[in-house]
Amino acid sequence: MAKLEVNNIHTFYGNIEALKGVSLSVDEGEIVTLIGSNGAGKSTTLNTISGLYKPRQGEVSLEGERIDQLPAHTIVAKGISQAPEGRKIFARLTVKENLEMGAFIRTDGPEAIKRDIEHVYALFPRLREREWQIAGTLSGGEQQMLAIGRALMSKPRILLLDEPSMGLAPLLVDTIFDIIEEINKQGMTILLVEQNAQVALSIAHRGYVMQAGEIVLHDTAKNLRENE
Ligand code: ADP
Ligand code: ADP
Repeated sequence: MAKLEVNNIHTFYGNIEALKGVSLSVDEGEIVTLIGSNGAGKSTTLNTISGLYKPRQGEVSLEGERIDQLPAHTIVAKGISQAPEGRKIFARLTVKENLEMGAFIRTDGPEAIKRDIEHVYALFPRLREREWQIAGTLSGGEQQMLAIGRALMSKPRILLLDEPSMGLAPLLVDTIFDIIEEINKQGMTILLVEQNAQVALSIAHRGYVMQAGEIVLHDTAKNLRENE
């Protein structure tokens, strides 16, 4: 059984069909990337998985359990956590408060949460140095790191990443992708949406290419890299 299974989903904005029967799967321990040009439907796919939008048709299952009609906060509680595009962190809160907010659904107590904040700081040392800084004053790259760190704080079973390279200088993109790869090596299953196919395929195991609301190609990352 795949960890995450998306089967033939159709998602609409009013009368506009943004997803025209999208199917994909992510297995335990994989990084799977969803690539394609702007407007292809990548964000809509992620937002349908995380429950922000409900598909009009089709199913989303996490470890065999249907989740597509559940409220978004229930989907988070089931183990799907998304680091949003555009770094939608809590701009008026500190770095530490943002990380604490990421743990809001947890019931395993302050000690465990403290330990996981330390784990995020170990992955992103720049966040540790800025623990007390107001998040809205961080640089773009630091905000992206915080968005990923906050998503990790819910201890998800699968992490959804929406365009982590967006708006970042190339060196910083490399840094962040090295850390995403490290997070995966530590056992996290990841679905990664990217416009930057080259960098996404450099760390992914498999990839799906989207165009105009449909998956048009699916292969190993290696084959997709060679055929680019
Ligand atoms: P991508 O992430 O691949 O750039 P999106 O999923 O954001 O693509 O968009 C897919 C299509 O749906 C585009 O045509 C886009 O304009 C449209 N779209 C996205 N969000 C909305 C929305 N909130 N309301 C209406 N149309 C939307
Ligand atoms: P962002 O997360 O960057 O703010 P959105 O998810 O809101 O982007 O939108 C993604 C894409 O969908 C963009 O191309 C945007 O222009 C388009 N879009 C967003 N809202 C609408 C809308 N109400 N009608 C049509 N297109 C939209």
